[in-house]
Amino acid sequence: MSKIKSRGHSAAAPLGLDQIRWMYAEHLAAEAWLLLLAAVPAVPEDHAAGYAIPQASYLLGGGHYIRGGSQALSDRLVELIRQSNGVVETKHEVDTLVVDEDRVLGVANHDRGRTDVSVEYAPVVFGNAAPQHLAQMLPEACRHAFLAPYRSRHPSISLWTIALGLSRPPADFGVRHYSTFILPPWVRTLGAMRDAGAILGEEPGTRLPPYSFVDYHRIDDALNPTPPYLGTLCGIDRLSNWTSLSAETKQKRKAGWMDRLIGDLDREFPGIAGAIVHREMATAETIAHYLSAPDGAVYGFAPEREGRNPLAMTAQTSVKGLWLASAYVFGGGFTGAMIGGATAAREAIRAADHRLYLSALGELS
Ligand SMILES: Cc1cc2nc3c(=O)[nH]c(=O)nc-3n(C[C@H](O)[C@H](O)[C@H](O)COP(=O)(O)OP(=O)(O)OC[C@H]3O[C@@H](n4cnc5c(N)ncnc54)[C@H](O)[C@@H]3O)c2cc1C
Repeated sequence: MSKIKSRGHSAAAPLGLDQIRWMYAEHLAAEAWLLLLAAVPAVPEDHAAGYAIPQASYLLGGGHYIRGGSQALSDRLVELIRQSNGVVETKHEVDTLVVDEDRVLGVANHDRGRTDVSVEYAPVVFGNAAPQHLAQMLPEACRHAFLAPYRSRHPSISLWTIALGLSRPPADFGVRHYSTFILPPWVRTLGAMRDAGAILGEEPGTRLPPYSFVDYHRIDDALNPTPPYLGTLCGIDRLSNWTSLSAETKQKRKAGWMDRLIGDLDREFPGIAGAIVHREMATAETIAHYLSAPDGAVYGFAPEREGRNPLAMTAQTSVKGLWLASAYVFGGGFTGAMIGGATAAREAIRAADHRLYLSALGELS
């Protein structure tokens, strides 16, 4: 783990948006700060604790970066599963949750070519996909009850990202921090952050969105010790910015935005654009396509007034044995997803203990 210390001015910056043109912050979840800003006006006081706790923890104690990136975490989890005689199947998509009345029995899945189709039976299933997506895998008769707790909830924001490879470390061009937040002049209030989502639906060249630049080389990331040095630009996106465009227009729009945003980064850090040897853009549509995330949501449900208090979370669903284990339990980001997964495991173990206890009582009576 690499430790990232919080800095006082990252906390103070949101309060002084009208004076501050751009600012720096060091953060584990660079774009999570944008999420917080986008969410703040919509979060009622009783819900705010669920969002304030991770931020306070960061400000007081700093953040942590997993050396080797999230792939290292996935690899370690796979290792633990295999050590416990578990099996990990990749490149398979679950298409059906096998249910008997109101209890899950297993999952049917297929490979990409649909040549390898199989059913795995299990008394407990953890659903990592979005509830709306899980509902499509359930028999029609189960869907209404399953979706009822989530009916008033909306998907969270989505993101665009531009992955950059640089021939020289960004520090050579004046980058001093792990993450740098660049706010265009039109962002004067917290409310303005909400408008940021629609900007990539406009022709590049008009308004610029607020965005962050992450320089992984500032910390001991264990990603690329030699060039290319990795960097990421990231901001808020919407699926609707991209869905109506033809493939050709989409490519042009992406190229235009990459030129525009890299140009703006170069204005802040003169010369950096000339060191870029690789660039690649992902949008809300990319996320929706690869992760089956509704509207490309990356943080589970939006933190809205009507939403459930995140501190009163449960992973339980209307289908016995099927637990939500994702950002849709507590909230998004790696921390939120981990809290959701841990909650699901705890609740499933408790339910299993309870069943064992009841069957033991049955044997005694
Ligand atoms: C570009 C980007 C950068 C981010 N950066 C950060 C960051 O720096 N810090 C941070 O804290 N958070 C970050 N996030 C947010 C964070 O990644 C998410 O909030 C978190 O991963 C959500 O976890 P999850 O387990 O709920 O969902 P996911 O990580 O989306 O996992 C869901 C998985 O289910 C799979 N799936 C869906 N349907 C099926 C099916 N039918 N069969 C089989 N598999 C299926 C998907 O392919 C996916 O792998 C970032 C997100 C993005 C997109």
